Amino acid sequence: MTSKLSQRAQKLFIQYLRENNLKVTQERLALLDEIFNTNEHLDADDLLARMKVKQRKVSRATVYRTLDLLVQCGLVRKSRLGREHYYYEKMEPGGGHHHMVCTATGKIIEFWDADLDERLRRICQDHKFRPAFISIQIQGLSEEGQKVEQETSFF
Ligand SMILES: [Zn+2]
Repeated sequence: MTSKLSQRAQKLFIQYLRENNLKVTQERLALLDEIFNTNEHLDADDLLARMKVKQRKVSRATVYRTLDLLVQCGLVRKSRLGREHYYYEKMEPGGGHHHMVCTATGKIIEFWDADLDERLRRICQDHKFRPAFISIQIQGLSEEGQKVEQETSFF
């Protein structure tokens, strides 16, 4: 299953690797493919596990190195969601969004609000600040997380 977006991403990634005298390897392309064919937020361990399921031998070092490259060339977005956890997800045209992170279940909810975006840009303007990238993260409890909290609460 390869989408149009992932095909275009692959083309850009290959171009980026060549321009930087880096090898275009099957492992690197397989990792890109994995990220572009899911809507999930993956961490390095998730990617390693997914590669294993597909019987592709990819080392942890290769996963980290490739993720760095994908972030550098702007194809993948890296976000610290929750405490000390980094997640990777594909960049999509017009795909800017924010995250709510449930501290009980780890669930990630994406949201976007055009009015909010507009407001934030105006606030930046007021401070003579030029925003390159706006990302909001709200930590708290999702619906399921609130139930977990209730069940484990003494009161
Ligand atoms: Zn996201």
